[in-house]
Amino acid sequence: MTPLIDTHERRIKYLRISITDRCNFRCRYCMPSGGIEWLPHESIMKYEEYLRILRICIPRGVEKVRITGGEPLVRKGLADFIASVKSIDGLRELSLTTNGVLLPMQAPDLKRAGLDRVNISLDTLDRDKFSYITRVNAFDQVKEGIMTALEYGFSPVKINVVAIRGFNDDEIPAFAALTLDRPVEVRFIELMPMGCASRYGEREVISSEEIRRIIEGRYGKMAPVEYNHGPAKVYQIQGSQGKIGLIGAMSEYSFCSTCNRIRITANGSLRPCLFSDDHIDLLSPMRKGISDIELNELIEEGVRLKQRSHGMCMGQHVAPHQGCDALMNTIGG
Ligand code: SAM
Ligand code: SF4
Repeated sequence: MTPLIDTHERRIKYLRISITDRCNFRCRYCMPSGGIEWLPHESIMKYEEYLRILRICIPRGVEKVRITGGEPLVRKGLADFIASVKSIDGLRELSLTTNGVLLPMQAPDLKRAGLDRVNISLDTLDRDKFSYITRVNAFDQVKEGIMTALEYGFSPVKINVVAIRGFNDDEIPAFAALTLDRPVEVRFIELMPMGCASRYGEREVISSEEIRRIIEGRYGKMAPVEYNHGPAKVYQIQGSQGKIGLIGAMSEYSFCSTCNRIRITANGSLRPCLFSDDHIDLLSPMRKGISDIELNELIEEGVRLKQRSHGMCMGQHVAPHQGCDALMNTIGG
């Protein structure tokens, strides 16, 4: 099988699939308080439809699959889906991004089904600030979710922190401290101006470089960890058990040059880049009965749409998706 390669010679090895646009949180940078007009059930991809796409992409070089949303744990039948994805030959790693609130209940089933890793989103270590940013009073459950993930041996457990000046910049050292004696990777993500985050300005974005300086100011120079072609630059505080990941989506010029990702949205579009409106609808042609050869061609067409760069570096802070249209939860962050 020929590998999937874009027009800038990047090999596609990583597929993110959003399995639902629904969510039990309303994070201020992601969704409006009243939610959004959800996709009608019939336009959400069925698990078999994701599997069909995966059975094409994995033999063509996709090694890693991440399940995301919306909140993936709200969709029924997830453990069975995970077991089916894991049975596809050639897949090296299956991971999941979650807000963690349902993990205490579901972690055992997910582990049994073969899930390798979880990323849990947590933007603050303060209970009141948590309720403010997520608009849900669930701090203790998410903390328990992180403990359960560690207990069930998902390795490594990664904690996603969206860094927002004026909200959690004062907590950066405390988040870094979590890595001192726990085998977790804390990943600081630069706030991206999409959907509801368009309400934030460039002032609120804290660059990866600034975050690194803050952490090193407290804990000394960090050692870089071998580069693994993921979106994060990974470091380690001397003598710590865990790691620190810095995701410079807005500030790092090299961010796009090594991007090997494509996405499938909850309604079955292939999106070659989170920041671009370019997409190819796979769902309607699949439901009209296209062959695997035709589906392969559509996937190749989607990969060809991948631009060299998202062109939205800091200093040119433009929101491609204006308004609170909550795209992140449909596309899958
Ligand atoms: N509901 C799950 C969760 O929150 O982990 C999965 C979906 S969520 C869209 C995936 C990740 O995208 C989360 O870590 C979230 O914090 C991040 N995210 C959402 N909107 C963002 C934005 N505007 N800028 C940066 N990260 C964002
Ligand atoms: Fe839901 Fe995740 Fe968006 Fe928060 S970031 S509203 S948990 S999809």
